[in-house]
Amino acid sequence: MHTILGQASATHVLQSALNSGRMHHAWILHGPTGVGKCTTAQRVARILLCPNAQPDLTGNVTACGSCPACHLADSEDSTHPDLHIVVKELARYHDDRTVRDRKLRNIPRGVLEQHLIEPAYRSAQMNHHKVFIVDEAELLDLTGQNTLLKTLEEPPAGTYIFLVTSQEDRLLPTIRSRCQRVPFGMLDDHTVQTWVEQYVANQEEIDLPADQLAWVVRFARGSLGQAQLAIAYRLDLWQQTLDPMIDAMAKGKGAGEIGPTMTQLANDFAEQWVNRNKNASKDAANKAAVRHILGLVGEVCRQRLHDVSEQADPVDPGTTDRKLHLWLRGIDLAQDADKHLATNVAPALLLDNLAVQWAASD
Ligand SMILES: [Zn+2]
Repeated sequence: MHTILGQASATHVLQSALNSGRMHHAWILHGPTGVGKCTTAQRVARILLCPNAQPDLTGNVTACGSCPACHLADSEDSTHPDLHIVVKELARYHDDRTVRDRKLRNIPRGVLEQHLIEPAYRSAQMNHHKVFIVDEAELLDLTGQNTLLKTLEEPPAGTYIFLVTSQEDRLLPTIRSRCQRVPFGMLDDHTVQTWVEQYVANQEEIDLPADQLAWVVRFARGSLGQAQLAIAYRLDLWQQTLDPMIDAMAKGKGAGEIGPTMTQLANDFAEQWVNRNKNASKDAANKAAVRHILGLVGEVCRQRLHDVSEQADPVDPGTTDRKLHLWLRGIDLAQDADKHLATNVAPALLLDNLAVQWAASD
């Protein structure tokens, strides 16, 4: 198994389990979004599905790469019949229309039953193992999790289940205790930068100047998913829009248009998101957009904080203190607003409040 960029320890745990020949049947891969959890699960799946998997020269069990199972696992859309990837989007293809028409806020129990529980108790179509990967497993509701629990308690032979999640605390303790848990960490900036450079080089339609690229790397804060999102939606342009307004505020000119501008950017994002992702919930897209705005405000503040502490003015420590206070306050307000997002406060109100309180703290 190739090491996922920067995830050596997580990969090591899984590879050691494969090498030992006593692979546990249920795993939780948890950690921030966009750091390679699902990709890792798929790489382990490929090894588990290969009937000829054996240790290479370094003793690591690897897939043969040439049998029919490997060809299927390597095919463009992973058409291996014993590899089941459960994602919330499957609801769109469910037999039951009411499940089909629901907005994609969770993984409905019907989807879990059709794509995991039922096939888990059937024999493997290629007479070897079966692998199930549940992406965003935190989206399983309580009934879904309880249904899954029974399968985890008495797993059918040759069945492996990987729950991938960025919010492990939303899984029942009884589920967690039956799984081996593998933590994934944030990637370092250098790793993210290398990835972003390659990614941009491969996409002709994207033209990202060097300073914007550096901004994307900082904004990503160790997550490739976050970097990809910033590029796809050009969040670096948000920063260019907001930067001068925030600077004006820092000079004591009040909140100005910061609140309404942030709301506008969030709306535009949500609209684009819903256009690109059929069946996406506008409400969820809106929240996600506000979350990105808050992430961006936090990033702007951290950067300014860094600049201020680098160029502290020994002659006028008062000014330095005032600026430090302002940027720290921005970080706090963004974090508070993020917490409030869960409580159904109107996003526009939330962003307006943030701007007003922030300007007042000056
Ligand atoms: Zn093979």
